[in-house]
Amino acid sequence: MSAAADTPAPWWALFWRAARLRCPHCGSGGIFRTLLELRDRCLGCGLRLDRGEGDYFVGAYLFNLVAVEVILFVCVAGIVAVTWPSPPWELLTWVTATLTLAGCVGCYPFAKVTWLALDLALRPLSPEELQWHRDGGRVGERPLPHL
Ligand SMILES: [Zn+2]
Repeated sequence: MSAAADTPAPWWALFWRAARLRCPHCGSGGIFRTLLELRDRCLGCGLRLDRGEGDYFVGAYLFNLVAVEVILFVCVAGIVAVTWPSPPWELLTWVTATLTLAGCVGCYPFAKVTWLALDLALRPLSPEELQWHRDGGRVGERPLPHL
């Protein structure tokens, strides 16, 4: 864990790293155990990726829902506009069902890391909190430095 990982990154770097599915705080890769499952902590800086809070990713679900809805709207509106006045309604049914399922899975990792980036932008990580994460702190065991 480098000293550079201890200093807060600018907000644009947080989101740029999240867009590449890297740790928003330090930029290290490999933060996902599987496509849909984050590791407990970043291997580069030691940040607990749920910031030690059990219900941390509820906001990520909202991000995921909005992203899938935007993708669906753009695709359906585009198909209807191109094929007007006789849109292929049956094809649209299958396209929207497929896009919904694929979008939920495909956008989910980005939603989780983007949520973490937004949280780090709004509640910057202090050196005390980072040490708390590195020491394996959990909410309820010891006071969380950012609360
Ligand atoms: Zn990190």
